[in-house]
Amino acid sequence: MKIHEYQGKEILRKYGVPVPRGIPCFSIDDAVKAAESLGGKVWVVKAQIHAGGRGKGGGVKLARSIDEVRQLSGEILGMQLKTHQTGPEGQKVRRLLIEEGADIRKELYVGIVVDRGSQKVTLMASSEGGMDIEEVAEKTPELIHKVGVDPQAGLTDAQADDIARRIGIPDESVGKARAALQGLYKAFWETDASLAEINPLILTGDGAVVALDAKLNFDSNALYRHPDIVAMRDIDEEDAAEIEASKFDLAYIQLDGNIGCLVNGAGLAMATMDTIKLFGGEPANFLDVGGGATTEKVTEAFKIMLRNPNLKAILVNIFGGIMRCDVIAEGVVAASKAVGLKVPLVVRMKGTNEDQGKRILAESGLPIISADTMGEAAQKVVTAAAGA
Ligand code: ADP
Ligand code: MG
Repeated sequence: MKIHEYQGKEILRKYGVPVPRGIPCFSIDDAVKAAESLGGKVWVVKAQIHAGGRGKGGGVKLARSIDEVRQLSGEILGMQLKTHQTGPEGQKVRRLLIEEGADIRKELYVGIVVDRGSQKVTLMASSEGGMDIEEVAEKTPELIHKVGVDPQAGLTDAQADDIARRIGIPDESVGKARAALQGLYKAFWETDASLAEINPLILTGDGAVVALDAKLNFDSNALYRHPDIVAMRDIDEEDAAEIEASKFDLAYIQLDGNIGCLVNGAGLAMATMDTIKLFGGEPANFLDVGGGATTEKVTEAFKIMLRNPNLKAILVNIFGGIMRCDVIAEGVVAASKAVGLKVPLVVRMKGTNEDQGKRILAESGLPIISADTMGEAAQKVVTAAAGA
C-alpha cells in the first residue's frame, strides 16, 4: 500500500526525522489559508499523488507571494499530472501540500528497502540526491552507498555516521544526519514498510538535516497490524480494476500487456504469465480467482479483466482441483454473454469435471479456441493477440 508524501512526513516526524512545516489542502482557499498560517516569504505548492517525479512533471512549484500560492494551487489542483511513474495518461491531482520553502545547501538521497540479494534490510544513500537519482543509479552506481542492517542491532551509530560522511555531511552535522537515518530506519522497521525513501534529504544553510520528500510503501500482508496506516489509504490513487477485484476477494493486478489471464492459483497464474512471455506475448493482468470460486465470482473476474482497453486476447488456464472446471466454464460463458466478448478467448482446462466444462464451452456457441497444454495455449493466445 502507498500513501501520500504529507502522510509519510507525519510518520517520519513521529520518528524524529525533521520535516518542513506543511499543511495538506483540498482546495485553493485552503491552500491560501495554509500559506498564511505558515507565514514566511517562500512556500512550495506540492501535488500529492502516489507517484514520484512530480517536480519534473510540473507538480512542485515555488511561490514567493500569497497571490502566487493562489495561482499555482489553481494550476496544480485538478491537473492531470504526468510523471515517469504515472503512465502516459497521468494522475489527477486532488490534494496539495503547502509547505514552507527550505534553504537547500545540498540535496542528498537516502532509501531503505529489503535487498533480496543480501537478504537484509538495506540502507542506500547518495550525495547526488534530487530529481535525477534514477540517472545517478544508472550511470554512476558507485555514487550510491549501501549498508546492510542487522535486525537485532538496528542501524548502529557507527553505520549511520559512516554513511553520513560518505554522502558528504560535514562533521558538525553528522549527529543530525545520524538521528535522521536512525529515525528513518525505525520508521521502516516498525511500520512494516517495504520502501522508505527520502529524496531529497537536504542539508540546509545552517547545517540542519531535513526530509524534503517522503515515500513510504507498506507490506499489505502486515497492514492488519497497522490500522492507523490503513486509515491513510486513498483509493482515488488506486487502480479502479484492482479495487473492484478486492471487493470480490480476487487477487488482480493490472499490467501493461494485452493478453488477459484468468487462472486459479497464484503459482499457476505466475507460470501462465511466464509461458505467455516465453512465446513473445505480454500479460495484461495477473488474476488468481482462488480455489473455491463460485460462478458469480468467476463472472466478476471476467468482467474486471474485460474492462481493460488494451486487451487483445484472453487466456483462461484452469487446473480443476478443488475448483471445478464446469464452474469456471459457466462463469466464462455468463460473463462473455453479459459483456459481449469481442476478443479471442483461448481456454485450457485440466482436472475435475474437465469434460463437463469443455461441453459447456462448446455448447455456448462462443468462438472459443481450446488448447490442451500450457505451451499450446500460450502460443495460441499470443498468435490471437497479434492477429487481433
Ligand atoms: P518529486 O520527487 O516527486 O519530484 P519532491 O518532493 O522531491 O518531489 O520535490 C522536487 C524538488 O522540489 C526537490 O528535489 C526540491 O529541490 C524541491 N522542493 C521540494 N520541497 C521543497 C521545499 N519545501 N522547499 C524547497 N524546495 C523544495
Ligand atoms: Mg522526491
